[in-house]
Amino acid sequence: MSESSCIFCQIIDGAIPADIYYQDDDILAFRDIHPVAPTHLLIIPKKHIATANDFSDEDERLIGKLMTTASKLARELRVDRSGYRMVMNCNRDAGQTVFHVHLHLLAGRAFSWPPG
Ligand code: AMP
Repeated sequence: MSESSCIFCQIIDGAIPADIYYQDDDILAFRDIHPVAPTHLLIIPKKHIATANDFSDEDERLIGKLMTTASKLARELRVDRSGYRMVMNCNRDAGQTVFHVHLHLLAGRAFSWPPG
């Protein structure tokens, strides 16, 4: 299931270190190496899925779990009341740079809209 050339699969496998905040059988959450907010976690499925274009019906529960995990972690980090942003970039125009699906959980400052 893991892709040897994928940096996030290597983090899941423990081959590359990461500041892991939470994990279970399906999901890993770790701190972004270049945070753009005081709280910046990446929440990823342990299954390798390259982009949101590759979601299949069988991934429905897993992708839903990315969102519910982000929500739980936001509560745990006590940023739920002040607010947070969940972001998933897909392909070039969105600025995706790592091709293993990930949900950014961003909090701790005010974000502008529309995004740049
Ligand atoms: P995206 O632009 O949505 O593909 O976001 C990829 C994110 O992964 C960026 O915010 C990077 O800073 C982050 N990133 C890349 N490599 C690592 C790593 N080894 N550990 C933690 N975060 C990483």
